[in-house]
Amino acid sequence: MPDSVKIVGGGLAGCEAALYLASHGIKVTLYDIKPGAFTPCHHSGNYAELVCSNSLKSNDVYGNACGLLKEEMRLLGSAVIAAADRTSVPAGNALAVDREAFSSQITLAVKSSPLITCVEEEISAIPPEGFVVIATGPLTTPSLAGEIEKITGVCPYFFDAAAPIVSGESIDMDTAFVADRYGEAGKGDYINCPLNKEEYQNFIKELLGAKRAELHEFENDKVFDGCMPVEVMAARGEDTLRFGPMKPAGLTDPRTGRWPYACVQLRKENTAGLAYNIVGFQTNLTFGEQKRVFSLIPALKNAEYYRYGVMHRNMYLNSPGLLSADFSLKSDPRVYFAGQITGVEGYVESAASGLIAAIAITERIKGKPPVSFGTSTVIGALSEYVATQNANFQPMNSNYGILAPLDVNIRDKAVKKRKLAERSLNIIKEIKERL
Ligand SMILES: Cc1cc2nc3c(=O)[nH]c(=O)nc-3n(C[C@H](O)[C@H](O)[C@H](O)COP(=O)(O)OP(=O)(O)OC[C@H]3O[C@@H](n4cnc5c(N)ncnc54)[C@H](O)[C@@H]3O)c2cc1C
Repeated sequence: MPDSVKIVGGGLAGCEAALYLASHGIKVTLYDIKPGAFTPCHHSGNYAELVCSNSLKSNDVYGNACGLLKEEMRLLGSAVIAAADRTSVPAGNALAVDREAFSSQITLAVKSSPLITCVEEEISAIPPEGFVVIATGPLTTPSLAGEIEKITGVCPYFFDAAAPIVSGESIDMDTAFVADRYGEAGKGDYINCPLNKEEYQNFIKELLGAKRAELHEFENDKVFDGCMPVEVMAARGEDTLRFGPMKPAGLTDPRTGRWPYACVQLRKENTAGLAYNIVGFQTNLTFGEQKRVFSLIPALKNAEYYRYGVMHRNMYLNSPGLLSADFSLKSDPRVYFAGQITGVEGYVESAASGLIAAIAITERIKGKPPVSFGTSTVIGALSEYVATQNANFQPMNSNYGILAPLDVNIRDKAVKKRKLAERSLNIIKEIKERL
């Protein structure tokens, strides 16, 4: 048994890996710059901090690829998904969490494990001996990023933005209404902020003219599609937001009995509803402009901001050719990368890569043959995507497009998704029995 596995970064991937290894009797030393220092996006002293939305996306196992990925991870013993299940807040079909409770529970599990030693330290070079997992995320500190680039070549990057959080008390419920999309009017988990045509057009006009925060090296074409700032989306056409985060379809306003012209949704940050995330409203406007422009949404006219939206440069490895499908470095296979730095995108996907790396290390330490998840499981398809040659490699989140097709052609989309899920879960159950 080696001394201990060194994990650098106590984010979603690092904590997932640490807790998996410890649960299999393997010692871990976990390094993070927290709580004495922070990257520009992290603010909490806890590990596994969610930097933007509190949603881990869909929980629908048989109708959504990210829902399926979560179920695969549950079967494999994911500590991150278990913590998310325990700290979930109502959010329709999504698995949203109370971010403080979620991070606190994971931090407690890590810190109370007799096999995990936590070290508050900035790591500036890849540790030279033993198994190592680099899970320092998209905002890896510059010193370590520089050292990584000496091995991997210059890292690509994209810009990712976070959405603001407002206080529950400050939402004007005289103009807002509670409903889930296509749910019963007046009932549901979301607060909806309707706009009529005139209000919407005025909002778009002000949004387009609003001042953005200056960002070194910022280029519009390097914004990640899944997390595009509202102001960038709005510039694509007047109706773009009405077909995106301001989509009114299925949101019946009980006051009118109709869908509004446009609608902004607010999702609970905690069960008590003390704070709400403005869904899909990631932005790079200056803080003053966020307050001014978003107050043109009638229900947010007096909104108090617990956190404003921000945008940051995210680095990732040009992984194809560098990493194997178990996330180990081809040129030095004792070194693993995990999390968003590998080119997977999203909270769940980041944790999933930590799980794969930890399973691979565990099997090697136990002297067992390597595990292959294949491309019929979402977790396997993601890791294969990262490891497969691709001249235009871009970060990837879970989706059905990366899965191997079924043997039979099924036209009904719902049936097809169910079959894909059943196939995947059977494979994962077989793998789990061998671990
Ligand atoms: C602005 C922004 C908004 C985002 N919004 C979303 C979203 O809404 N939904 C979503 O699914 N994903 C979002 N993401 C992506 C998100 O970062 C990842 O999904 C996830 O947090 C990545 O997990 P990770 O474990 O790879 O890294 P992180 O969770 O970032 O963890 C990395 C850890 O490494 C530590 N660290 C960094 N450098 C060092 C060092 N040199 N030495 C020691 N420790 C170090 C950090 O302190 C941190 O604790 C967003 C990212 C950004 C930057």
